[in-house]
Amino acid sequence: MNHPDVREELHRLHLELPRNGLVTWTSGNISARVDGGLLIKPSGVTFEALTPEGMVHTDLDARVLNSDLSPSSDTATHAYIYRELPQVGGIVHTHSPYATAWAATGQDIPCVLTAMADEFGGPVPCGGFALIGGEQIGAEVVRVLRGHRSPAIILQSHGVFTIGRTPAAALKAAVMVEDVARTVALAFQLAAATGTPVLPIAPADIDQLYDRYTNVYGQRPAPATPNAEVRP
Ligand SMILES: [Zn+2]
Repeated sequence: MNHPDVREELHRLHLELPRNGLVTWTSGNISARVDGGLLIKPSGVTFEALTPEGMVHTDLDARVLNSDLSPSSDTATHAYIYRELPQVGGIVHTHSPYATAWAATGQDIPCVLTAMADEFGGPVPCGGFALIGGEQIGAEVVRVLRGHRSPAIILQSHGVFTIGRTPAAALKAAVMVEDVARTVALAFQLAAATGTPVLPIAPADIDQLYDRYTNVYGQRPAPATPNAEVRP
C-alpha cells in the first residue's frame, strides 16, 4: 500500500464530514495530492465502511493506478484542479445544506460577517452551472478561484468545493463555509421578518480583517534568531 500516512489522514478527515453535518449517505469526498497523482474516496462507499487502504490512487488524468475500487465520480474534477492550480494540496467537495441552498439561488454568499472577511477575504463566490462527470466542473472551479482570496466556491444548483495547501486546510474551509452560510441565511430571514437590512461590511474593512487574520492572528512560528550560533 503506497502513501500510508496520507491514506490514514484522508480516512480520518473523511470521518469529519458526517461529524460536522456536511454530508448525507455517501455524498461528499476529500482528496490529497500525492506525487504525480491523487488519493480520493472510493465511489459509493459509506463513511463507516471507508478504510485507509480503500482510498483510490489515480494519476492527474483521473486514471486509476492499481486499485480494486472505483474512485469517486468527482475524480475528474479534483484532477483538473490539481493540474491547473499547483499550490493546491487538498480538495473537499460536499453538498452541505446551507451552502448548497445558497448555490440553489445562484448567488454569492455576501460578506456580512467578520468571520467571512477573515476566512474568505470577501463573499464566497458562486460559479455557474456545470454538468457532472467530465471536466466542466473543474474548469468552472479553476476559472473562479484562480487568483481569488476565497478557498471556497459554491457551484450553482450543486454544492461546495474547497481547496487548500493540505486536505486539512480544505476541510477547515468546508466547515467554515457551511457555518457562515447558515448564519447569513438566518440573518436574511431575520431581516425579512423585521424589515431591516442585512448590513454589508465595507471593502476597506474586509481588507483589514483579512490581512490581520492572514498575517497576525493565531500562533506564529518563533522568529529566526538573528545569530544562529547563539543557543540558550
Ligand atoms: Zn456533488
